[in-house]
Amino acid sequence: MAQNISIPQCNPKANYLKYKAEIDSAVSRVLDNGYYILGPEVEAFEDEFAAYTGAKYAVGVANGTDAIELALLAAGVGPSDYVATVSHTAVATLSAIRRMGANPIFVDIDPKFFTMSVESLEEVISLKKIKAIVVVHIYGQMAEIHKILSLAKKHNIIVIEDCAQAHGAVNGNQMAGSIGDIGCFSFYPTKNLGALGDGGAVITSNESFAKKIKSLRQYGWEERYISSSQGINSRLDELQAAILRVKLPFLAQDNNNRKDIAKVYSENLENHHLIQVPLIRAESTHVFHQYVVLSSKRDFIKEQMIKENIIFGLHYPKPVHHQSAYALEEYKIVSLEVTDKLASEILSFPMFPELSLDDAYHVTKKVNALQL
Ligand SMILES: *Cc1c(COP(=O)(O)O)cnc(C)c1O
Repeated sequence: MAQNISIPQCNPKANYLKYKAEIDSAVSRVLDNGYYILGPEVEAFEDEFAAYTGAKYAVGVANGTDAIELALLAAGVGPSDYVATVSHTAVATLSAIRRMGANPIFVDIDPKFFTMSVESLEEVISLKKIKAIVVVHIYGQMAEIHKILSLAKKHNIIVIEDCAQAHGAVNGNQMAGSIGDIGCFSFYPTKNLGALGDGGAVITSNESFAKKIKSLRQYGWEERYISSSQGINSRLDELQAAILRVKLPFLAQDNNNRKDIAKVYSENLENHHLIQVPLIRAESTHVFHQYVVLSSKRDFIKEQMIKENIIFGLHYPKPVHHQSAYALEEYKIVSLEVTDKLASEILSFPMFPELSLDDAYHVTKKVNALQL
């Protein structure tokens, strides 16, 4: 009965169960093989992920935060450098920038699509000498990557794409992560391509960056036991790589399920004056890592839906520039007005590829029935 259903915000176990037979057999294969770190599965996954994204090289790493840190290190970013990025992102983006001591400078976002505002970026670039830009493709929607790239080129700035929420999103015929200088991915279990543990990858078509990242992910080794730089330990393990190899061929299909769910939400939600459904850019695809609406009634909606056993999320409840670790005055040199306004209105609907369209419809019916 519809009344008794309970709908989580995300459900990585459902994704495992869908591919259980293949995943279990891949896991046994690795356990029996005896290679557990950086072995044949990681190498094969790196080749397959590079081919999938259209980049020349992919390097498996331990998680998405490390992917961004390693990308910045490979690009030569250091403690005296400024890195432009958005405050409207997972805090991980900032944590990666701060790890080698670089200074983040916050850029505001576009009010319609929630990605980096090109005008705000121009202002930041006019005020500070920026070494790198970390562009976040938030919720599965790509930023205006070509405009950002041409601006960056003019000022000799490296562009790193944070694709932790945009696996498989496409702009023209180019995939997220393959357009800027370096692309960074997380395979945290709830991401569009999720491992069953931590995982990440860096992609690039620049051979020198790829070589540096490969060395930096393993103590800066140039050859076994001999380091030519001070690297870190950030390796993708064989089990996760084998699991990702099972899931990668189904990523497009899983993303299509997400798009179908989004369509059910957008077509059936009423009260559009109170609930603004997501807008999709004309020039790129949206892979709906999250389905995020804007509503001045979002706290009420979220609370009421808990009574219906439907769980909504907030991505994210507090912009990074208001979090005490990153609330430094020197990081905020331009207005972040849109970022601030949005934080009180965003609301993430349940979204995972195994959510049935019937259940998605049930969610819209319950939201429509609210007295807003
Ligand atoms: C998840 C996420 C990350 C960090 O990935 P981890 O694998 O958790 O380290 C970075 N940026 C964004 C936008 C994310 O959503």
